Amino acid sequence: MYTAIRLTPCLTMSDKTILVWFRNDLRIHDNEILLEAVRKADKIVLVYCFDPYYFKTKASGEPKTGSIRAKFLLESVADLRESLRAIGGELIIKIGNPAEVIPQLAETYQVNEVYHHREVAHEETAISETVETALWRMKLNLKHFIGHTLYHKEDLPFPIKDIPDSFAIFKKKVERDSTVRPCIGTPGFIRTPTIDDAGGLPTLEELGLEAPVFEGQGGEAFTGGETVALRHLDELFLNAEHATPGKGGRSATLHAFPSKLSAWISLGCISMRQVYWEVTNHQQSAHTNVFNSILLDLLWRDYFRFMFKKHGQKFIALKAGGQNTTDIADNQDELFEIWKKGATGIPLVDGFMHELNTTGYINKYGRQIVAGFLVNDLKIDWVKGAEYFEEKLIDYSPASNWGNWAFIAGVNNPVESRYNIAPRPALEMET
Ligand SMILES: Cc1cc2nc3c(=O)[nH]c(=O)nc-3n(C[C@H](O)[C@H](O)[C@H](O)COP(=O)(O)OP(=O)(O)OC[C@H]3O[C@@H](n4cnc5c(N)ncnc54)[C@H](O)[C@@H]3O)c2cc1C
Repeated sequence: MYTAIRLTPCLTMSDKTILVWFRNDLRIHDNEILLEAVRKADKIVLVYCFDPYYFKTKASGEPKTGSIRAKFLLESVADLRESLRAIGGELIIKIGNPAEVIPQLAETYQVNEVYHHREVAHEETAISETVETALWRMKLNLKHFIGHTLYHKEDLPFPIKDIPDSFAIFKKKVERDSTVRPCIGTPGFIRTPTIDDAGGLPTLEELGLEAPVFEGQGGEAFTGGETVALRHLDELFLNAEHATPGKGGRSATLHAFPSKLSAWISLGCISMRQVYWEVTNHQQSAHTNVFNSILLDLLWRDYFRFMFKKHGQKFIALKAGGQNTTDIADNQDELFEIWKKGATGIPLVDGFMHELNTTGYINKYGRQIVAGFLVNDLKIDWVKGAEYFEEKLIDYSPASNWGNWAFIAGVNNPVESRYNIAPRPALEMET
């Protein structure tokens, strides 16, 4: 199913060495930086860096990255290392500031260029800017690739600055005038320089975290990594097949099924493009459209990324009639603690919060319910909720999280905010 391209290193590649800096692209399939490096260089230095910035303790005393997501990340990096080893490569794992680690490795291995996938949210771009500056001092180039979106920026029917702010218009024009590029091949062989110490995976403890406890019903643990992501996608199709009419199934209800792919997509264990093509091909061969909702949802993900690309931080601070300081309850800190614990007395809200706290995942409806309740009923500053999701979500992704929260708080476009929000059940707090 996946194309393996075997590129035999040859003299024409000279002695060029490229450093591939993995970030949220922890895969070997459909990974342009990897394939391009194999095509252009004789030796590849493969690096993943655990940046202490993401594991710091916030002013609230809570970790920026919770233990469920950290565990998933560790599994994903371990899986990437295995996949790279299977094709001859060795992943160097470091803990440290990338602005120090990447230049040091570039020096050690006499690297000619560094490749990475460009991010859009401000923390991630700030990190790559510091790396870029450090490399520039060494006269080395940090080459940016675009690999996180479904539609390539250059295939959009408008330049970034003219992307419609309305999701409905964005969707209509993109679906009409653009196509999703095919997936690119997978390298069949990678040559890394001789590495004395590739480094081991840190433990959760070394990252300052305790092991997560997955409780009872719904306490399902996702396992990180590309291998499980691809299996999960196959199982999704298999389960749908067993549920088609004529096989005792109930295909109509499948439209609402969440794919639960988000954690793998967020860390780039699988590309959006690969999900898109596998879903499209499956639907064509199985003569079904049960997965159309996944294709629509992938477009939402693109939309939020492109909105960040267009507006930067302003996308979540436009204040167009959304929540403002007069909407905030005087006792918001107390209410926030109640919301976090899932002790509001509203079974639907509390159930979802409990699920979030114990599994790191709730479906979109659950996210909309608890976020809407925090903003509209408890009148808590939405930023607190978004930060809590950042810590707890196994699939945390800056543009998707902050973009969705800002929609719910109505800080960017109140009309579309309503479009994106699930019907609101009657939520009465017990008094
Ligand atoms: C307040 C709030 C915060 C959110 N934070 C995140 C986040 O940090 N990371 C994240 O991946 N998603 C986030 N979402 C979007 C969405 O809820 C999840 O992507 C989705 O529930 C994941 O489940 P799934 O993989 O089963 O999705 P499916 O319904 O199967 O959708 C397929 C894929 O499309 C993407 N997607 C679906 N809905 C959205 C959406 N509204 N915005 C962006 N992408 C979408 C996801 O990558 C998802 O895996 C948030 C939504 C809300 C309301």
